[in-house]
Amino acid sequence: MADALLQVKGLERRFGGLRAVDGLSLEVQAGEILGLLGPNGSGKTTAINLISGVLEPNAGSIKVNGHEVAGMPSYRISSYGISRTYQLVRLFSGMTVRQNVVAGMAFVHDHEFGSRADEKADALLAKVGLAGQGDTLAGDLTYMNQKKVELARALASRPKLLLLDEWLAGLNPTELIDAMKLVASIREENISIVMVEHVIEAVRSLCDRCVVMSAGMPIASGTPAEVLADPEVIRAYLGE
Ligand code: ADP
Repeated sequence: MADALLQVKGLERRFGGLRAVDGLSLEVQAGEILGLLGPNGSGKTTAINLISGVLEPNAGSIKVNGHEVAGMPSYRISSYGISRTYQLVRLFSGMTVRQNVVAGMAFVHDHEFGSRADEKADALLAKVGLAGQGDTLAGDLTYMNQKKVELARALASRPKLLLLDEWLAGLNPTELIDAMKLVASIREENISIVMVEHVIEAVRSLCDRCVVMSAGMPIASGTPAEVLADPEVIRAYLGE
C-alpha cells in the first residue's frame, strides 16, 4: 500500500513537566479531511505546531509521503508540502493583502518574483472570495476576510496538506456557511486537510475521519458520527 500523505507516530512534546502531546499517532491520506478534536488543553495546537515545525518534538516520527520531517524547521517542512493557518490570525497588518499572500510563496522552490507572484496572489485571492482586494491593507479587512487572506497565504506555497487551527472559529452563521464551502473546495483540489475544530456542524459535514485527543493522547478515532457518540469522548469533553 502507498505511504499515507502524513504519518505521525508516537509524537511527544513536553513543556517542563507537562506532557502536552504524549504519544500521538495519526495518518492522513491524500484528499482526506481529518478532524483533530478534544477539549481545551488536550494538545491539539501543540500537535499542529509540531507537524508544521513551529515546535520541535521530544520524540516521535512525522513522515510526509514517507520522508521523515520531525524536528525540521518550518520552512523546510513547508517545502515538503505542509502549510498552516494560526488560531489567532497572523497577518502583516501594515502590508497589503496581496503582499501578505506573496509572503506565503517565500519558501516555494520554484518561487517566481515580481509580477508573476502578484498574478498568482491575485488568483488565490479570487479563489478565497477576495477578488479586487489585493491593494487593501490587511489590517483594514474584517475578521472573516483576514482569515481568508491567511488561507490564501497558506495556499500560496502549494501545499499537499493544509493544517487549519480553528479556522472556522468566531464566524457568524452566514460567514460559517461561506467558509465551510471554501474548505470543501480546497479538498476538491486534492489538498488534504487536518482541522482542529470545535464547530461541530463543520466537523460533521467536512471531516472524513476524526482523531480525538485528551491530555495529549488520542482517545478515539473514526467517522465524526462515531467519535461524537463515543462515551469516552463525551466524558473527556465534560471533564469527568
Ligand atoms: P489545545 O490546542 O488542545 O487547547 P494546547 O496544545 O494549546 O491544547 O495545549 C496543551 C497543553 O500544553 C496545555 O496544558 C497548555 O497550557 C500547554 N502549553 C501549550 N503551549 C505551551 C508553551 N509554549 N509553554 C508551556 N505550556 C504550553
